[in-house]
Amino acid sequence: MQKIRDNLSQLRQKIQQLLQKYQRDPAAVVLLAVSKTQSVAAIETAVLQGQYRFGENYLQEALPKIQALKAYQLQWHFIGRIQSNKIKDIAENFAWVQSVYQLKHAQRLSQQRPAGLLPLNVTVQINIDREPQKAGIMPEDALNFAQEVVKLPNLRLRGLMGLPAAHPDFMAQQQSFKALHAVYQRLKEQGLPLDTLSMGMSDDMEAAIAQGTTLLRIGTAIFGQRDP
Ligand SMILES: *Cc1c(COP(=O)(O)O)cnc(C)c1O
Repeated sequence: MQKIRDNLSQLRQKIQQLLQKYQRDPAAVVLLAVSKTQSVAAIETAVLQGQYRFGENYLQEALPKIQALKAYQLQWHFIGRIQSNKIKDIAENFAWVQSVYQLKHAQRLSQQRPAGLLPLNVTVQINIDREPQKAGIMPEDALNFAQEVVKLPNLRLRGLMGLPAAHPDFMAQQQSFKALHAVYQRLKEQGLPLDTLSMGMSDDMEAAIAQGTTLLRIGTAIFGQRDP
């Protein structure tokens, strides 16, 4: 657990250094700790270091952890593939859903969001490198899709999430993120009230910061390699 503490403090320093390097505001980026496959104890270690936002990919895995850590009032983000039969549980237990790319999922998330809770924050997942095997909205369809999502009463559209192809080199990583940033800017220019550009993981964090990310989703660099 000492490793998690060290990783987290080094990561925060690194993020600050990179924000400075790319002449961005020190408060421009928030850190989402991606805790899939991690234990409650590992998550709690990060919480005690002041980490507040956590991302999970699988509902069955996430629910007991959310329950066990309820007293901390953490902010949970669903970042995995949405299955239709899980939508009610997602709408009831998460504050954010980052992986919205089907209108029927967005509609059902809105319908199922309990009245006593704040609107569910959502980002639209963009298939930024147009990979046929990957989920997400194509960049040219993002505006139409976002204009439908923003109408839904119990959702609050916050921005875009991108999962680019795994590029080994920094220049190619930047190209993908630059393209996603351009889509984000275009939607904002069309009047959508967006404030979140979710891009960048452990291996491409610098490129994402250089290209304007506002939310990093980091697992490995905090918790170490996941068991396969
Ligand atoms: C697992 C995952 C991450 C974190 O990836 P790391 O390389 O471990 O930092 C980020 N985003 C999504 C959608 C993920 O599934």
